[in-house]
Amino acid sequence: MTQTEPTTAPTWQKTACILCECNCGIEVQVEDRRLLRIRGDKSHPSSEGYTCEKPLRLDRYQNGTERLTSPLRRRADGSYEGIDWDTAIAEIADRLRQVRDEHGGDKIFFYGGGGQGNHLGAGYGQSLQAAVGAKYRSNALAQEKTGEMFVDGRLYGGHTKGDFEHAEVVVFVGKNPWQSHSFPRARPVLKEMAADPGRCMVVIDPRRSETAAMADIHLQVKPGTDAWCLAALGAVLVQEDLVDHAFIAEHTTGAEPVLAAYADVDVVDYAARCGVPEDLIRTTARRIAAAKSACTYEDLGIQQAPHSTLSSYLNKMLWILTGNFAKKGGMFLHSMFAAIAGSGGGGGARRTPVTGARIISGLVPCNSIAEEINTTHPDRFRAMCIDSVNPAHSLADSASFRTAMRSLDLTVVVDIAMTETAREADYVLPASSQFEKWECTFFNVDFPANVFHLRAPLMEPLEGTLPEPEIYARLVRELGVVDDATLTPLRTAAEQGLAEFAEAFFGAVTAEPQLMGVAAHVLYETLGPTLGTARGTAAIWGLAQLCAMNQPAAVARAGFTGAGFEPGNRLFEKVLEGEGVVFTRDDYEHAWDYVRRPDRRFTLEVPELIERMRALADEPSAWTTEDFPFVLSAGERRAFTANTIIRDPSWRRRDAQGALRINPDDAASYGVATGDSLRVVTERGSAEATVEVTDTLQPGHVSLPNGMGVEHADGTPGVAPNELTSLHHRDWLAGTPWHKYVPARLERV
Ligand code: SF4
Repeated sequence: MTQTEPTTAPTWQKTACILCECNCGIEVQVEDRRLLRIRGDKSHPSSEGYTCEKPLRLDRYQNGTERLTSPLRRRADGSYEGIDWDTAIAEIADRLRQVRDEHGGDKIFFYGGGGQGNHLGAGYGQSLQAAVGAKYRSNALAQEKTGEMFVDGRLYGGHTKGDFEHAEVVVFVGKNPWQSHSFPRARPVLKEMAADPGRCMVVIDPRRSETAAMADIHLQVKPGTDAWCLAALGAVLVQEDLVDHAFIAEHTTGAEPVLAAYADVDVVDYAARCGVPEDLIRTTARRIAAAKSACTYEDLGIQQAPHSTLSSYLNKMLWILTGNFAKKGGMFLHSMFAAIAGSGGGGGARRTPVTGARIISGLVPCNSIAEEINTTHPDRFRAMCIDSVNPAHSLADSASFRTAMRSLDLTVVVDIAMTETAREADYVLPASSQFEKWECTFFNVDFPANVFHLRAPLMEPLEGTLPEPEIYARLVRELGVVDDATLTPLRTAAEQGLAEFAEAFFGAVTAEPQLMGVAAHVLYETLGPTLGTARGTAAIWGLAQLCAMNQPAAVARAGFTGAGFEPGNRLFEKVLEGEGVVFTRDDYEHAWDYVRRPDRRFTLEVPELIERMRALADEPSAWTTEDFPFVLSAGERRAFTANTIIRDPSWRRRDAQGALRINPDDAASYGVATGDSLRVVTERGSAEATVEVTDTLQPGHVSLPNGMGVEHADGTPGVAPNELTSLHHRDWLAGTPWHKYVPARLERV
């Protein structure tokens, strides 16, 4: 304690930052429902006290936004009236029932389930989906990661990550971890790497991002040409015989057609296409091949750009062809506390009912959602439930999404604030904030020690709000899908203890397998009451059991041992303490245990991707036109950008207007300087933006940040990027949007 602090200073409570998927552990002092002081939690097993600048003013999330405190019902004139919870639950359940009975439960579409830090409610939302017979759902991963998920599914059936802390060579592909993090202690790790002459950081990015500026090698591709650059890197490995043949022979199948495709790549031509000197591409490939260890990280820079899925495939080939898996400094597959969106990966055989878009990892492509609704097709969606996300702002072509919402028979939004999406809904249900209830994230992707953090509430729910588990429990109860004959014996068993409950619960779902669909609800209604104020964590018990059953050896190495249901029960009791918990512990070679193939080999041949890789030779590598000669990156991650859960503009310490970044040559040609304005025009819309002149962008490339243009009582600074984006600009396979490649023109204001 410092001398200036009063002796009555509130105690430090442990929780986590909710502004990116790292969910760094933090400690918070709370006073009068305000997050007074915030610091990194040194005892957190993955972040170890690290935070970036973003969480220090998290009170702008808790209190900076006008909170909803009553369920709202839309009137015919578009205004809203407050209604009580009982009325809201009864009316929504009744209207869901009507849609189900008239059109079928599969016409009720579910979107969301939380952002970076709030996934617990989604489990209970799945019970509502099962209760109404829904079959289609999606979330933001379907505009970011489904291309990579498709590739992961085809290659090995799981999610990979790199050992950045120990790798000799790290390749960041369309990734700027200085700002977007994504792995623990990103900035110290980057600094260590940059300072070590024996290591090499490679960045593939059209911008000279903060990370690119630190890199040993920056492959500054022309926007949208990552696939040509990645194909050329792989081609050098193959054509100069730098491939780890022993690894390929021992651990893969189907390598021949892949190697043959690389052998045919014209490296000189591809280097010219992507705008990177050929010798730099060759130097980079040789450096990767010569390293004792190498790993890569791909992110939205390629995943929201042309050829997203193909680029993922070509990226992964860099570390596979060089044998960088399951060793220190290499890549690994990891354990999971709970599967996110079928993150075993793959799929793509199932299609959406109207447009026939591929459903990957169980998710409808985000760019297809409005198209599945704005139609007279008889199989169109008729109702939509949206949980704790803001798709009318975050998905491409916001205007189309608004039209879709207003054309549905029923739309329900659960959120803490009146978001852009809530403003289009028939009903808005006010949720408690992430610091007012038990919460967690399922972005648990670390190795060799993987961490899960169940966060205890810092304060009581704001009056009038409910945690999502209670909201969904009330809706499922109202729909009457689980009767007391099922619940009563489980309640009795729960009162006897976790061991007795485990026997009873798994006995019940074995006898009635359909109960698994509403498992979270059943747990909430039976185990939940024994947990007191932690009732919302009941579903975590089920996940802890599945985690222990699916990864028994790794869970045992983390200290959760015993017979039968004991490891799962012990794990549950440990996470209930509300701190970060190492739930699996592995050694590097255990990464092979997570390869979901009977022969534990990677399946390298993916015919449709090899075919498309070969087609790169003759395809255009630019999609700008005479009318729209610039490439706009719509949604750049910067120091003070977050997703739209931060609505208070005073949160931003810099770049308050969310400037349009532009190269000095382009600025000169328009006669503008930093602080002036330009109009950005795309085929879908236009917006005026404040200019920031910077040579970090190439001529012909401009960028706008994410998270801007949200409505707040103190103003709506910046441009909402998706007023400018189009649905048809999307990946040919996964349907992921080209947010990083929006053809645009600039006009003087
Ligand atoms: S790295 Fe992410 S989770 Fe960690 S403090 Fe920064 S924004 Fe929060």
